[in-house]
Order: sequence, then C-alpha cells, then structure tokens
Amino acid sequence: MTRQPAAAHAATEIIRKTPAELLVRPNFDDYQATRETFSWARSDPLLRTPDGGCNIAYTAVDRHADGEAGARTALRFMGSPATTGTIGSVDLSYDQLAHSARRFTNVLRELGIGKGDVMFVVAARGPELYAGVMGALRNGTIVSPLFSAFGPEPIATRIRLGRGAVLLITESLYRKKLAAIRDTMPTLRRVIVIGESGSVATVSGTESFSELMAAASDDADLTPTTEDDPALLHFTSGTTGTPKGAVHVHGALATHYATGFYALDLHPDDIYWCTADPGWVTGTSYGIIAPLLHGITSIVDPEDFDAERWYRILEQEKVSVWYTAPTAIRMLMRAGEDLARKFSHPDLRFVASVGEPLNPEAVWWGRDVLGLPIHDNWWQTETGGIMIANTAAFDIKPGSMGRPLPGVDACLVQRSADHRVTVIDTPDQVGELALRAGWPSMFRSYLNNAERYRDCFVDDLYLTGDLATRDADGYYWFVGRADDVIKSAGHLIGPFEVENVLMEHPAVAEAAVIGVPSPVTGEMVKAFVTLKHGYEFDDALRRELLGHARKKLGAAVAPKDVEYAAALPHTRSGKIMRRLVRARELGLPEGDLSTLESDGHIPTSEAKS
Ligand code: AMP
Repeated sequence: MTRQPAAAHAATEIIRKTPAELLVRPNFDDYQATRETFSWARSDPLLRTPDGGCNIAYTAVDRHADGEAGARTALRFMGSPATTGTIGSVDLSYDQLAHSARRFTNVLRELGIGKGDVMFVVAARGPELYAGVMGALRNGTIVSPLFSAFGPEPIATRIRLGRGAVLLITESLYRKKLAAIRDTMPTLRRVIVIGESGSVATVSGTESFSELMAAASDDADLTPTTEDDPALLHFTSGTTGTPKGAVHVHGALATHYATGFYALDLHPDDIYWCTADPGWVTGTSYGIIAPLLHGITSIVDPEDFDAERWYRILEQEKVSVWYTAPTAIRMLMRAGEDLARKFSHPDLRFVASVGEPLNPEAVWWGRDVLGLPIHDNWWQTETGGIMIANTAAFDIKPGSMGRPLPGVDACLVQRSADHRVTVIDTPDQVGELALRAGWPSMFRSYLNNAERYRDCFVDDLYLTGDLATRDADGYYWFVGRADDVIKSAGHLIGPFEVENVLMEHPAVAEAAVIGVPSPVTGEMVKAFVTLKHGYEFDDALRRELLGHARKKLGAAVAPKDVEYAAALPHTRSGKIMRRLVRARELGLPEGDLSTLESDGHIPTSEAKS
C-alpha cells in the first residue's frame, strides 16, 4: 500500500473498500441486504442453555469448554518487561477458564451469595478477574465492574448505590482505597481479596481469593437464569445527581455476539485485543464477553499505555483484530511514525475504535502508518453494545461514526417541551440521536430510578443524549452531547460528582466543572471555584484543591486544572450554568440566556486574589 502523510487527504475523501485485496473475507459485504434480512430472533439457539434458559457465562465459556474448543486459548495475559525484548505471557484455555469460573461459583455459594445479589469488581486485569466475573454470572449474581483507577469516593458511592453484597478486589487496591472506609458500605457482606502475583492475601475482615478457590470444587451446576434476568450493572454519569446504574440482562449476549460479527468482523481464528479496562462498559462487553462468545483468543495487557509496548504486542502476538480508543490512537500518533515503522504486523486486518470522536486525521493515520484505516463506532453504556459503526462492508467517510448495524434502527429527533419528539428526515440537520427500542442489550432500568429511565424514552424511541447529523448516504456524524457530561480519554465523567468533592474542601463555596478541549484526551476536566469568606486563591490553594480531588476521586476523574472565579452564573432555579461557564472559557457564543438569574464573569484575572 502507498503510504503518504495524513495531511494530504481532503475532508471529503472516502476510504474505499476493495474486497479483492483482503486476505480474509469479511463477515458481510452487502450492508443493505443484510439489514433487510437480519432478525434478532435468528440468534435464538445461541441464547439457550441446555435447560432452555440464557446465561452469558454459559454461552461464553461452558459451551466451548464442553466441546472441542476447550483446549483453545481463551485469554493470553501479557507480563513484563514493559517495553523491550519479548514480552512473556500466560495462557488460559477455555477449559481452564471454565474450571476456575465453576470454582468461583462454588466460592460465592459457600459465602451465601446467590442469584440477584450484586458483586462489585475492582481488580487488576488478571485471570482472577475473568474467573470471578464468569463464576458470578453462572451463579445468577449481578456483576458490577468498576475502574481500578477510581479513588475511594467513586467506588464507595457506587457500592452503596448498587447495594453491593460482595466485593472482589485486588489486595493493594483494597488496602489503599477501601480498608479505612469499609464501614461506610454497610450492605457489603463479604470482601474477597486477590493477593498480588498469586500470593495469599491476609487482610483483616476479608476472605482470601486463593484460599477460597483452593478449597472449592470445580463442579458447579448453572443457576437457572433467563434472558430477562439482570446480569450486569454498569454505572454511568449524568449531568446531575448521583451516577446512574444501568441494568443489563443475560439476553444482551445476542447483541454482543452479533456486533462482534458485524462491527468487529470476528472470525474463528482471530487473535483479538481490546485495550479497554473491564471497569468500563467497553472492557466488559468487548474485552470479556464478545470475544469469549466467539470462542477466539483475546490478549489481555495489565500494563498502562506504552506506545512501544503496544506496537510490540501487535507484532509479537500476531493480533488480527484490534479494538481501541481515539485517545490511544492520538498518543500513538504523538509517539511518531518512526516508532510505528520499527514494527510490522502483517496479521492485523481490522482496527476499530470507540468512546469519543475519532478525528479524520486519526483514521487516515491508521491507513497511512498502520496500513489499515481505523473503523470508528458509536455506542454508550445504556445501549450495552455497538449500535452505529464503520464496518468491513462499506466505504469509510473519515470523521463519521458509520451507519446503524443490522438489527439497529436509528434516527435523529427534535425534542419539544411536552416530552414529544419530531423525527428529522432532511439530511445534514442536527438532531438528537435516537434508537428504536428492542435490541437485546438495551438497558432495562436505571437502578432505583424509574422516572429517570422513563424520561429516556418517547414512544418506542430511546433518546441517547447525543447530538448528531446524518448525511444523504445514511452515515452519522457526531456533533456533541446534549448535556454537560465530560468525555476525557474515553471516560464519561459527571461534573456533579467532581463538584461535590471540591465543595467538601473547607475553602470552596461553589464549584463548576466543565470539559475543555485537549489535543490528546479529547476533553480535559477543568474546575472553577468560588471561595468562602476568609480564603484567598493562590498557587498553594490551587495545588491543594487538585491534590484533594485526586485523592478522593482518583486520577481518571479528578480535574487537571482549578481556576478561581469571583462568582458563577446561575439559572433562576439556582443551578450553575456550566454551559455558560464553558462558553465563556472557550470564547464561544453564550447562547440562550433567558434562564440566567445571577451572573458571574469567569475567569477574569482582576477577580483573582
Ligand atoms: P459511555 O456510556 O461511557 O460509553 O459513553 C458514551 C458516550 O461516549 C456517548 O453517548 C457519546 O457521547 C460518546 N461516544 C461514544 N462513542 C463515540 C464516537 N464514536 N464518537 C463520538 N462520541 C462517542
């Protein structure tokens, strides 16, 4: 393939698919015909357990282990060193995964944890995490994975909201983040601690994962579950209030399977690498469930991003399908083409990305430097799986999220004040992205918040909160969020949660938290604070506030910058107008100010002490 600098591409240039050049025939090549004939009902036999029920862990693991595929590697865990030389790894076959999952099912049963109880997971990406998740799902226990880079506050808040009965956690994370505040999570009946590097954890008031597993039998039948039984609880952030717990059911596996097939083009012999942490919905749906449903081998890298290590893994492990994130791609772009060209990956045939807008330059960089374009796709926690995608079956328009997958009906709507919507038919108009309800991985409730759930639907349309346009060819283009949530490095961050923590500091009277553009992470979290009487804003206080937020919230959520504001703008009902704070910070039009009650111009250098 001719390689040219990314800058040479015009904005309207399309990446044509030329199937004749492909070594592996894509799973589908006729988009329209596949959409017309697709039916969710057709995946039914896959949904069934031997007793006619439905269980994600059965279809993902037991089904293969009981068959010929049992010896195949399910998960390959990459080890150290971080950047140079051959990276060691440890393989877990489908048989081995099934045995440890069954053991963990027995562990939970011994501890009195059953169907419908919630298990939180805050763990390093090691074999214990995968055995724990699959063992719990086999037991009918609802799994709620949390990001291990969360600080104590977001973890404890979610465990309290989800009424967690059991917590599976890596020893060092427990000691550092939760041991001191265990009493604040009264529903937690058990804490199972995973010792570092396989050691036996002995932490007072907890159980040791390795001891419990050693004592458990690996013969555990499946707890009967149906496709409507809850399986996963994923927390996501809104503009106001506490994080929302989106409940997903076992029947979601039909979407995970189908999207693995159509959007990620998974084939039986693939070596697949999803770089997302299982603490986020992508890392669960596509880092754990979808590849196991397809019976393929997944690479798991427990280390943080490192450009050279990542290229080495692609080359050394002969990764064929790679699912990553725009921030990671931009970090690879920053690391430079020379580094990229030191490695070769002839087996790589499909690259996809999700979570935040993928700029056209990044799509072209993939084509020009990796030799493959990057296929952007769109979905969110509530949808449980990929909904809109650039697929192997059609040309890519760089900058577009692609088209709705088979089985997904999308449209753009305009909301009116009386909770009605009008569907927008004209191309290139901005509207709110909506999906026709009924795909299998659609969330079934927001935990303890029926009203908030109802508000997401009008007639049979689920309203996503994202603004987009659709062109005449049916491609969707992301415009922005309809609300104030922030996307930083692919992580959705609720400003309210960050503001609350800042306001716990004795100096802070009020806080407004917004996202400001960042060339690598998409958005960066920035806070504006007003101070209580008697406090002065100086560099020491600024650093103290940043440290306070980082300690409580963790690095993934905490603001990267805090600035002083003499006052913050409020609506008549007393809410801070973050939209206006953001517009002023970025020099954008201030928009409709009819609800503005009190004003506060920020930031002004004169106002700073
Ligand atoms: P989450 O629920 O954390 O997965 O975040 C979902 C949100 O991320 C969506 O509602 C979008 O705002 C954003 N998002 C996801 N994928 C894309 C994409 N391909 N392009 C632009 N934004 C995206």
